[in-house]
Amino acid sequence: MAAAAPVIMRVMASSISTAKRAGGIIRDVLKKGDLGIVDKGKNDPQTEADRSAQRCIIASLANKFPTVKIIGEEGGSDLNVCDDWLVNDLDEGFLQQSCPAEWKDVKPEDFVIWVDPLDGTAEYTQGHVEHVTVLIGIAVKDAAVGGIIHQPFYQQPDGEMGRTIWGLKGLGTGGFTAVPAPAGQFIITTTRSHSNALHQQALNAFASTEVLKVGGAGFKVLQLLEGKAHAYVFATPGCKKWDTCAPEAVLEAQGGCLTNINGEHYAYNADVEHVNRQGVLASLGQNHAALVEKIPAEVRAAVGAK
Ligand code: AMP
Ligand code: MG
Ligand code: MG
Repeated sequence: MAAAAPVIMRVMASSISTAKRAGGIIRDVLKKGDLGIVDKGKNDPQTEADRSAQRCIIASLANKFPTVKIIGEEGGSDLNVCDDWLVNDLDEGFLQQSCPAEWKDVKPEDFVIWVDPLDGTAEYTQGHVEHVTVLIGIAVKDAAVGGIIHQPFYQQPDGEMGRTIWGLKGLGTGGFTAVPAPAGQFIITTTRSHSNALHQQALNAFASTEVLKVGGAGFKVLQLLEGKAHAYVFATPGCKKWDTCAPEAVLEAQGGCLTNINGEHYAYNADVEHVNRQGVLASLGQNHAALVEKIPAEVRAAVGAK
């Protein structure tokens, strides 16, 4: 069964298993207590968990799919990992699904896998561990098509730690229960650690009833999927392709929309610039174009959007 499944189904199933293993590594580093924090830039920390989770994910996926291009946040990694970090399993539950016709014949060289081994590092170091996610996004040519959002510190009702949400365009989503956001309110979810005056000006343009400030692109999209917020607004550069590829694919597989603040999709081929210069606007169950219209022209001009 597994060998016969189209490449995209095997990449998704392998990414689900690998994201879970990376989540275990992220919990272990925190438990041991030595985070090994290095500053990559202003407000841009990296920990031992980011480095180790990336090595696990890239070594495992590169081993299984040697001709697929993989781009990870933490740059070139030593792929000589211990057996315990080399994930061979393909998630069996996912492989039971049937592959949408449009992806059946996609060749390995048409894929790019975007890996954020730990999204929400600032929050991880500050103890807001529920904001942390592992993101594996699968692009076909320019488009974000499949995604895994794994939450290592989510406690299941049976006490098990971690949950894994997936989405594949044309197939749907799994791993969570979709809840519509409350009617009669407009709740925005946004950054808690990368705000600036421009971004604040964009937030002010929405007649929001509440603004939730949380870490990570993955967690903010989870808030849209579970009805905690109506829109995710980030009107400044700073997010990268590995932050948005998986969240975009999962959200859009559920019927939502993730674009720049001008309402355009980012391209995810291997040659694109990593930074999402024109910010992020995401919504579920809303008129997305109407939200784009609310962003002040001055803010759009400042980030180089039309
Ligand atoms: P946030 O919404 O601030 O949690 O950011 C979502 C993702 O984008 C995280 O992975 C951040 O590290 C990244 N990010 C956003 N803004 C910046 C920035 N100014 N510098 C570095 N990373 C950023
Ligand atoms: Mg990130
Ligand atoms: Mg990260």
